[in-house]
Amino acid sequence: MSNTLQAIRGMNDILPEQTPLWQFVEDTIRDVLEGYGYREIRMPVVEKTELFKRSIGEVTDIVEKEMYTFTDRNGDSLTLRPEGTAGCVRACIQHSLVNRQSQRLWYTGPMFRHERPQRGRYRQFYQVGVEVFGLEGPDIDAEILLMTARLWRRLGLQQVTLQLNSLGTVEARARFRDALVEYLRTVFEQLDEDSQRRLESNPLRVLDSKNSAVQALLENAPVLADFLDADSRAHFSALCEQLDSAGIDYVINPRLVRGLDYYGRTVFEWVTDQLGAQGTVCAGGRFDALVEYLGGRATPAMGFALGLERLIALLENQGVEPPDRSPHLYVVAVGEQAQRQGLLLSERLRDALPGLRLVTHCGGGSFKSQFKKADRSGAQYALVLGDDEVKRREAGIKPLQVREEQQTVPFAELNDRLAGLLGLQLN
Ligand code: ATP
Ligand code: MG
Repeated sequence: MSNTLQAIRGMNDILPEQTPLWQFVEDTIRDVLEGYGYREIRMPVVEKTELFKRSIGEVTDIVEKEMYTFTDRNGDSLTLRPEGTAGCVRACIQHSLVNRQSQRLWYTGPMFRHERPQRGRYRQFYQVGVEVFGLEGPDIDAEILLMTARLWRRLGLQQVTLQLNSLGTVEARARFRDALVEYLRTVFEQLDEDSQRRLESNPLRVLDSKNSAVQALLENAPVLADFLDADSRAHFSALCEQLDSAGIDYVINPRLVRGLDYYGRTVFEWVTDQLGAQGTVCAGGRFDALVEYLGGRATPAMGFALGLERLIALLENQGVEPPDRSPHLYVVAVGEQAQRQGLLLSERLRDALPGLRLVTHCGGGSFKSQFKKADRSGAQYALVLGDDEVKRREAGIKPLQVREEQQTVPFAELNDRLAGLLGLQLN
């Protein structure tokens, strides 16, 4: 293998065996989001580096050490997007999507972060992101959480827990920050190097530390909830009441903060204990300040991103199977006439039966070898053509999944017969 080229570490091929589950997840997500009136937006994969520095914040894991940044041929500093919110907000401002109107948007695609690759953590990974602009009340927060809960139901996903917290306003966080810094100074010597540095540059980030010794020290730290302003408190309790009345279970986690700088008020994560350390499947919250901060008109906003690799790993763990998409029919044709007729007949069947999944055997070979391929394709039936059949203008239909006799059907009756057998509508 040493001579052959390999994919970049942490960047995965998604092979044909895996894509049915991906497609099932993607189709289901699109269906659920459309069911709530969300519309898709597509942004470039590359943006100016400055956009991410400004929106994500200089003192974050992402900007400090995870971005794929390069200088292009014009000398501009560009970055492969590490997440989608920054580009989505940039697009909304640029195209005036957020002036005096609300928007419910979603997007999907690859994101890039130079992290240490491990299960559930890659350097290229896929997210589905949802962003809502122009709505400030707790009703939209509730809608988003109900929508994610519905998504898990539709996918057949179990054992994910909703964790919730409120980060309050900028002022509330400033007061909390002072108290936190005061506390962290008393345990300074026991903090790891990252946290010691962050104590100066961005102390809230210490709460997000993945170091268990640091997490243990935080047990006695002041909690944000005690510093919340009255409005944020009311917003949060209205959200909790909505969730209660809709029967959505959640856990309030007072130490939940988001890894990104622009969040305030509601933050949430859907977590599981089935994926080791990479247990967050979906994470989001409010970012009411970001649009204005990036140069747009002040616009409240709320959103989330869900990690498709983690979601799919979890579905695999739980034995969720995608719907069967193997072919309905495999056309077996032996003989010169039969092969020619096989291709034409296949086209005619595809015209007549929308939704038909049909594989035409190519490359010749005996009946035996073609039937072997037909079996391996997973098709329900083989459509069998030999030169004699073609002369009589008929074909054999042989069930491949059950032990039943082959039946012979005149070409003229094939469409109807197949529609009946396969449960498809005729065009
Ligand atoms: P973590 O704390 O696990 O590093 P994060 O706070 O950096 O996550 P976000 O930026 O909020 O993650 O991204 C939202 C979701 O995207 C995560 O909850 C996760 O499901 C997924 N995700 C983030 N980084 C990666 C990655 N490197 N590989 C795979 N999925 C990821
Ligand atoms: Mg991260």
